Parts: sequence; C-alpha cells; structure tokens
Amino acid sequence: MESIEKIIEEVLSDLKDASTNEKVSEIRVKYLGKKGLISGLMKNMKDIPQEERPVFGSKVNEIRAKAEAAFQEKTNKLKEAALELKLRSEKIDVTLPAKEVQTGAIHPLNQTYYEVRKIFVGMGFEVVDGPEIEYDKYNFEMLNIPKDHPARDMQDTFYIEDDIVVRTHTSPVQIRTMLKHEPPIRVICPGRVYRTDDVDATHSPVFNQVEGLYIDKNVTFSDLKGVLAEFLRRLYGKSTVTKFRPGFFPFTEPSAEVDATCALCGGKGCPACKGAGMIEVLGCGMVNPRVLENCGLDPEVYSGFAFGLGLDRLTNIKYGITDIRHLYENDVRFLKQFR
Ligand SMILES: [Zn+2]
Repeated sequence: MESIEKIIEEVLSDLKDASTNEKVSEIRVKYLGKKGLISGLMKNMKDIPQEERPVFGSKVNEIRAKAEAAFQEKTNKLKEAALELKLRSEKIDVTLPAKEVQTGAIHPLNQTYYEVRKIFVGMGFEVVDGPEIEYDKYNFEMLNIPKDHPARDMQDTFYIEDDIVVRTHTSPVQIRTMLKHEPPIRVICPGRVYRTDDVDATHSPVFNQVEGLYIDKNVTFSDLKGVLAEFLRRLYGKSTVTKFRPGFFPFTEPSAEVDATCALCGGKGCPACKGAGMIEVLGCGMVNPRVLENCGLDPEVYSGFAFGLGLDRLTNIKYGITDIRHLYENDVRFLKQFR
C-alpha cells in the first residue's frame, strides 16, 4: 500500500519538471501506458491475499484517477503558458511614435491626361478606347493613306503582318467609332501609340496621344477653332493666345497646326519655346470627305473636325521636363516630385 502511495508522489515530481507536451506524454506512458507502472500494479493482484484484494483494487483505481487528474492539470497549464507567450509576442506599444507611410503619386502623364479629359468631357465629349494591335486598313487606308502614299513615310511603323500593325496613332479608334455610330459623334480617344523611333531625349518608340473627333451636320472650321482655343485656355490659363498655321494631314482637309502661348514663360520667350513665346501643341483639321465616305457617312450631309495632341509633349511643356525618357523609366526620385 505504501509503494502505491509513493507512485503518485513520483508522478507529481516527474510532472513538475516537464515543460513540453512531448515530455508529459512520455511520463504518461511511463505510468499509465499499457506497460506503465500503475497498470502494472494490477498484475500484482495474484500475489495479494484474497481478502485484501478489493481494498488493493480500489486503491489502485484511486491512484489512477489522481494521476489522470494531475496529467490533465499539467496539460492545461502548458496550454495557458503557450497562450500567454503568444499574447506577449503580439503585444503592441500604442505609445510608440508612428512609422512614416510612403505615399505614391499619380504619374505626370496621367495627371495631364486627367486634366485634358476633364476639359473635353466638360464640353460634352465621350471617351472611347480601341486596340493597340490594329488592321492596316483602319490605321492607314481608311484614313486616306493608301499603301503607296508618301505619308506612310511620316510614320515609321511596326508591322506584325502585311495587313496588321501596331497602331501609329489613335485615329483608327475614330474610324471604328464612325463605323459603329451614327452622328452626332463627339469623342476623344486616348492611348499608347508606337513608332520605330530610336530612344533619345525627344523620341520614344512608345508615346501617348489624345485624339478627338466631332461629326455632325453643319460643323465648320469656326467650331474647330472655338473648341480648341477654349480647350487651350482651360488647360494653360485664360490669357493663352492661339495661332492656327496651315498644315498637312492626309485625313483632314484643310489641316492646321496650332501654337499656344508658352505656359512656362507666359509668352516672354524661354529655352522651352526657343525664345518664340509660342509653342506647337496640337494638329487638327476638317475631316477629309474621303474619310467620311470610307466610313459610310455622306459628306454632303455631315462634316466634322478632328485633332490630335501628344500627351508626352503637353506634359513636358507643363512641368518643364526636358527629357521624354523620364516619363518611361519609372525612376522613383523623378516620380516622387509629383506627389
Ligand atoms: Zn517659353
């Protein structure tokens, strides 16, 4: 009987030093396993006089119950300790000073585009989108630039196949719009365009355009001048002066190139405008009747104007950026300045 009592003391003393669940399991096997010390007591039953057996049996069961309780208590304690450790490790000191959060900036090209878009949407233009991989037909032929036309030399083109190109301007989006919708049409087409130019300070094989198209009955050159002069005043300021010079584009007739007061020097003359006080900002013209015909519109009924501006150029003028590569290299030191 005494040795039975001793076993429970041994259990408690073994458990006291156990610090892991594995260790506790090991001790459990030692005492309560099939071949464990407590289980082994029952095997001694045969050596005990008949009349003492019930007392012995109930004593063993009592010890077994005590041992079970001790293991349960130890397991609970280990669980609590692990939880406390976890809570300690996740503790936050709310009195510490906050870490500085790095905020991003809207890319200058997007900033300029959002401004341009806001002005034209305010005048009732809609924004339309089109594919960057385009049929030769839409990129050139329907815009009055047939295969042998010298104007093709003006735009060095990436060809994918004989009749598929990477678009050299966003004008094919205008063709797609005219094919799909009846006038009145008032749209701007923003997007990336591609030419086989080598990279330098003023050239990039990829750049951004915003083109516009307005088709309705009785649209005249005065409408074109009014819309674009107002656009440039809203973009560069009320005192902006515009100058329309004759130009040439196969898809417009007559065509014009537009200069506006240099936004950097306000017309006084600076390196950006090469001292002229005016700077070229966009090309435009009345849509060539042939282009209207190609799109199934009767030039006797409808007329319209189109314009195109280089977003990169507008952005560079606006922020005084002298190298177009800054717009594409994503140097964080450059981009940070537009926060
Ligand atoms: Zn200037």
